Amino acid sequence: MSASSLLDLAGIGCGPFTLSVAAHLDRLPEVSAAFFDRRPAFSWHPGMMLPGVELQNSCLKDLVSAADPTNPWSFLSYLVSQKRFYAFLNCEFDAVYRKETAGYFKWVANGLPSLNFGHDVREVSFSDGAFTLRMTGPDGTDITRQSRNLSVGVGVTPWAPDCARRHLGPTCVHASQIAVTPEILSARRIAIIGGGQSGCEVFQALLNRDMTAEDEVVWISRRPTFEPIDASPFTNEYFSPTYSDLFHGLPAFRKGEKLEQQKLASDGASLSTLKAIYRRLYELKHLDGNPARLRLLPNRTLTAMDHGNGQYQLHTTNAFDGGSDVFTADVVILATGYHTAMPECLAPLSRRIRLTDSGQYCLNRDYSVDWDGPAANRLFALNASRHSHGIVDPQLSIAAWRSAEIVNALLGRNHFDLTLPPSMVEWASGHTAALRIAAE
Ligand SMILES: Cc1cc2nc3c(=O)[nH]c(=O)nc-3n(C[C@H](O)[C@H](O)[C@H](O)COP(=O)(O)OP(=O)(O)OC[C@H]3O[C@@H](n4cnc5c(N)ncnc54)[C@H](O)[C@@H]3O)c2cc1C
Repeated sequence: MSASSLLDLAGIGCGPFTLSVAAHLDRLPEVSAAFFDRRPAFSWHPGMMLPGVELQNSCLKDLVSAADPTNPWSFLSYLVSQKRFYAFLNCEFDAVYRKETAGYFKWVANGLPSLNFGHDVREVSFSDGAFTLRMTGPDGTDITRQSRNLSVGVGVTPWAPDCARRHLGPTCVHASQIAVTPEILSARRIAIIGGGQSGCEVFQALLNRDMTAEDEVVWISRRPTFEPIDASPFTNEYFSPTYSDLFHGLPAFRKGEKLEQQKLASDGASLSTLKAIYRRLYELKHLDGNPARLRLLPNRTLTAMDHGNGQYQLHTTNAFDGGSDVFTADVVILATGYHTAMPECLAPLSRRIRLTDSGQYCLNRDYSVDWDGPAANRLFALNASRHSHGIVDPQLSIAAWRSAEIVNALLGRNHFDLTLPPSMVEWASGHTAALRIAAE
């Protein structure tokens, strides 16, 4: 394939969700595809790769297995290729280390010829039946590629509360940067804002450093307590393609309600992390007589933030008793999550893309974006459909299935068999195929 030939699919970004699409297409040489990422090489959230952090879902929910279990780019193939299949099983992990998953992704990224790192996509336009991608290549040269279809897999963007945004800088950082700015973790008085998994991981990392009476960690969370993710079997049904399909058919107001209700199923902390933190606190307080001040502060909403004389003043309200508090810190770490945004490179197409009232893409069932271009030229969005496909969308759980849906849509035929029996739970009214308990 020459660099000037028209591609069937071009992709922006080479994160795990794009790797999954590329891994499915790797077995379909009739589809010409190329994916471009601005990073010089693959790395999976390096800024949050703190010691001991774990994956929040099964390693079987890898990049391919759910839809194409014989695909060579599975997690099992990776273990075998690294000659650690038996050792891995002997570990009987409850949760796989994220660094192991990152190693698996990197192995896939290094093996797929359709991926191009060091390519920053600056602009995408459309004319005469083709998307044109204008990029800056690894040596600073201008590169142009054209494609019939486009996939946008640029991930999510760190989010900070309004009152904190203006302070972002060397002493006020988003958690997504924490492992690549380790000097932050050596400050004496540190405040963490946010009680989800990222907040837990940062707090846990701070509990493992040497502490003196001058050290203080203030951990502020809006949640009523430090709550675990609900990973019980029926709640896990939310992370299935069947549920996502039903969810997609709901009216927008019901989707909004469900997303609010289901927040803890996807945004809570792993129970193993919470237990490890509690045990470490016990050890520090009761067994080691640790002198540092470790303050766990749920129910608190950060309402204002000031900076002066080298320290931050954090103003909070308390939903437990209606009170308010001010905390002081030298360094603030914002574990306040991420949001989805249309990348700047799509600006030339933005008027042609239909958005919801809240500025999100309007997405069809097959993850194609509703836009006013020809039906033969599809624009797919990865990791941008939580509002339309449900809480599973930002998770690895659905990656392989979503990629197979996209590949089927590209091919215009059901290359992957994506039919499933009805769920064990009758989510929708008028369910005609009730679960048959008795063997037929
Ligand atoms: C710390 C952390 C831990 C997580 N752990 C889990 C977990 O345990 N289980 C789970 O299911 N999910 C987890 N997730 C959620 C999800 O699986 C990951 O965020 C995943 O990386 C999403 O993949 P992605 O391909 O959408 O985006 P990303 O991994 O963010 O990749 C996007 C890529 O796009 C590139 N890019 C952006 N713009 C351009 C451009 N203009 N030109 C070229 N390249 C561009 C970026 O360089 C980047 O490499 C986690 C998320 C985070 C942040």
